Amino acid sequence: MKPPSFAYAPARSVEHAIELLAQHEGARILAGGQSLVPLLNMRLSHPALLVDINRIPDLDTISRSNGHVAFGGLVRHAAAESSELVAREAPLIARAIPHIGHAAIRNRGTIGGSVAFADPAAELPACLLALGGEAEIAGPEGRRLVAADDFFRGLFETALGPQDVLVEIRVPAATTATRVGFAEISRRHGDYAMVGLAASARADGAGLKDVRLAYFGVGATPVRARRAEAALAAADGPAGIEAAVAALAEDLDPADDVVASAAVKKHLAGVLLRRVARELGVAI
Ligand code: FAD
Repeated sequence: MKPPSFAYAPARSVEHAIELLAQHEGARILAGGQSLVPLLNMRLSHPALLVDINRIPDLDTISRSNGHVAFGGLVRHAAAESSELVAREAPLIARAIPHIGHAAIRNRGTIGGSVAFADPAAELPACLLALGGEAEIAGPEGRRLVAADDFFRGLFETALGPQDVLVEIRVPAATTATRVGFAEISRRHGDYAMVGLAASARADGAGLKDVRLAYFGVGATPVRARRAEAALAAADGPAGIEAAVAALAEDLDPADDVVASAAVKKHLAGVLLRRVARELGVAI
């Protein structure tokens, strides 16, 4: 199918993008187009104007400052995938990105677009949550920082307003104590996950602290499994893992969907937790 007709405006700067969004009700940002264009083609979205942010300078940089790795909203998945800085300082993101679609999608799709779109089965929103990162948003009232725990509000709903631009996401840079784990199960490589898990923790002697487990594909948003986090931090070894898996029964409440029943998703969530616990360094 072909998209409905729309007007098009390339933004020169973040401020110009906000101005254009404010002037036209129903305007949408166009970044990599890997989610938006299919929606247009299927006529599931009818924006009056597309505000193209691809020509805004300096929105596609990856940098490290003040203990954080910062990804500009326009950083392509492929650029992060091949970045040595990301591999070294943001290893969870490096682990997750190869699971996003296929190479052609990662060449165009952006980190800002993935986080702003907030598909509940997407990898990067869960990574942002697992790392306790934050989003920098620019809007008509200026700039603000929103913690990942407050960013994802509902199905495809985030802290972004209709005139806001996601300028940057920041995650804490890894230290020698940082432990991360990532696993997902999808029907075919490159498909959205049936269930996935992104995790981070800090090594604390023989155990772990600050455990953050963010599941995707099990709810309307990425979901933290807080009881399982506590169980994993409280007890090392196989008993800790089994207590954490048991805690998922209360943490997660997935619904049946077209790819799997709720019961299958719950089972897979436990399978993934056992795998990820090993990556986090839980002794077994
Ligand atoms: P766009 O499509 O341009 O925009 C998406 C939405 O976000 C739009 O509403 C847009 O207005 C808004 N937006 C974009 N950038 C900003 C910004 N900076 N500030 C505010 N709003 C913004 N994704 C996965 O996570 N996992 C997968 O397995 C996966 N598989 C895919 C398979 C296929 C076949 C396809 C076509 C896509 C797949 N994707 C997958 C989606 C892909 O990751 C997209 O790149 C991503 O969802 C959106 O990024 P984008 O830059 O293309 O955004």
